[in-house]
Amino acid sequence: MYQHLDLQGQPLPYAVGKVVCVGRSYQDHATELNNPIPSQPLLFIKPASSLAGLNEPLLLPQGLGAVHHELEVALLIGRRLCHAEPGHTQDAIVGVGLALDLTLRDLQNDLKAKGHPWERAKAFDGSCPMSPFAVPDMLGDLQQLDFSLQVNGVTRQRGNTADMMWTFAQLLAEMSRSFTLNPGDIVLTGTPKGVAELKPQDTLDMQLNGQYRFSAQVAG
Ligand code: ZN
Repeated sequence: MYQHLDLQGQPLPYAVGKVVCVGRSYQDHATELNNPIPSQPLLFIKPASSLAGLNEPLLLPQGLGAVHHELEVALLIGRRLCHAEPGHTQDAIVGVGLALDLTLRDLQNDLKAKGHPWERAKAFDGSCPMSPFAVPDMLGDLQQLDFSLQVNGVTRQRGNTADMMWTFAQLLAEMSRSFTLNPGDIVLTGTPKGVAELKPQDTLDMQLNGQYRFSAQVAG
């Protein structure tokens, strides 16, 4: 059963809630998939059942086409945000980690072409592998975080939160206009370019700001 964990592997005192995600918040990723640059954040939700800890092997859905990794900075929410102003969101972030927004890309392309919702491609069980959370104060300026993903020793994705089209504060405020963020909810803040397919037994190594490293293994 997934729980939010701190860097020592201890459970954090927040209930597990929903995951609110933003698509296309890094321009280089929007263009790599030939998507238009949105004028406002494209939001979607993964349910609590999508969360999985990195200590368990990642289970990929079978027979549904390619599963892509999207490496994203994840924010753990510690205070209720509802119609929040951007200037009043900073202290709501009580943890910062890295998540994989796993995406059934072939299925997503089918759903997009039909104008259908993305949930089957984005919100399935285990579609949000989540690292332990670092304390925000330990990371310095959250809007200048370097993060990267290696798969089998080869760098696939590298980003910096300075390149986001919207700041964390703007995103949290915008999200909170449609979806109240509750303590224990997680916000995924978008992926930089380099999304690609995961295969059984792949080894993943992620780093956050050169300070924290997380690894994971895809099930065989
Ligand atoms: Zn994503």
